[in-house]
Amino acid sequence: MRKIFSCEGWGMRRAGRIGRFGRQHLSFVLSLLFFAFASFPVVAEGETSEPLLAYGARIAGDNARTRIVVDFDRELKISVHYVADPVRVIVDLPRTAFGFAADDLAPRGLFTDIRYGAMDEHSARIVLTASRPVRLAMAEVQPDETGKGYRLVLDAETVTDAGFGQLLKTQDWQDTLPAAEAETAVPSTAEAQDSRFVIAVDAGHGGIDTGAVGSDSKTEEKNVTLSFARIFVERLNREPGIEAFLTRDKDEFLSLSERVQIARGRHANLLISLHADTLRQRNIRGATVYTISDTASDSLAADLAKRENLSDEIAGVALSNEPAAVADILLDLTRRETQAFSIAMARAVVSSFEGQVSLINNPHRYAGFRVLQAPDVPSILLELGFLSNLEDEKLLVDEKWREKVADLLAAAAMRYRERTVSGGG
Ligand code: ZN
Repeated sequence: MRKIFSCEGWGMRRAGRIGRFGRQHLSFVLSLLFFAFASFPVVAEGETSEPLLAYGARIAGDNARTRIVVDFDRELKISVHYVADPVRVIVDLPRTAFGFAADDLAPRGLFTDIRYGAMDEHSARIVLTASRPVRLAMAEVQPDETGKGYRLVLDAETVTDAGFGQLLKTQDWQDTLPAAEAETAVPSTAEAQDSRFVIAVDAGHGGIDTGAVGSDSKTEEKNVTLSFARIFVERLNREPGIEAFLTRDKDEFLSLSERVQIARGRHANLLISLHADTLRQRNIRGATVYTISDTASDSLAADLAKRENLSDEIAGVALSNEPAAVADILLDLTRRETQAFSIAMARAVVSSFEGQVSLINNPHRYAGFRVLQAPDVPSILLELGFLSNLEDEKLLVDEKWREKVADLLAAAAMRYRERTVSGGG
């Protein structure tokens, strides 16, 4: 699957605000920290709101054994879990600022992919994807030689398939993220019989999942989507009878099914998921509107859906149980109706954008996006533009452009609402 990604694009960049500073800045920050700790009583873990600082990292080893060391400014507690398909080792940490260079933890040995970043306000996570079943023979936090900092040492070794299966079975861990809602759930829109029109605005990616990264200015998709989503929600809420809300309002990770559940839980009449991905074809630019379908409209749409659906994997979420086969004919009808509404919304967006905002050829496309799978909430995924295209990237961070697009998108939502609500939807 790796070959469908552009190297500099999708998620290759690691999170961490300090990452863009040089090592000199870091050592300066560190010396400040040490002075601070020298002149005040040491603050115990949990009593401070300051994140841990991970200021160094190393990886060494081969296909049989791989060691990872991460340097921290303070002592910390960790927990380790394993997830299958693909094999991943998850290391959960308290809130951490990752301040080392991405290259210091470039995948090697047993690991084909390494990510780290925030999960929420209180926690961070390291996700190690392995090429074969592995276990951590050692996962320890040790004081370093200077006696000032601590270091996390992770020693990975291969195990048999059966051995890994045993690890999964015996680990005392449940994925804290909710599994995808059972498909037989009662459709939620019927319960929301008031006159408000509720719109869930979903800023794609977040936290450990940075999404795509602009090839030149390193703009991160998760920030582009959140900035635009905030403007858009505010714009929508100026309309009488509209109640718009954000699925996430900060830099945190939400699984794809959580996004769907948040929309359903608040009885949304519409879900709009916002993105700005990268393509290998850097000349392609413009907006695209996606709706869900079992079969993709084209290979570009299929590739994009594959990449979007990797979001949970990046963050180390165990793939939730596959939805049971749909036996409920009512639900099936609901889903078909929902899909018709989603398509109507996609068309409203395209016609609102035409001549105003650059669109790619065939701007309404479809594919199996998991964030669009609510059976009862009409949903679209909007690629605002591509971070792999220089002109698009400039626009995506331009305040004026964002406001103009938010206006046009709000107009599309209003037109959609008029048609569906007056039509009894
Ligand atoms: Zn995206």
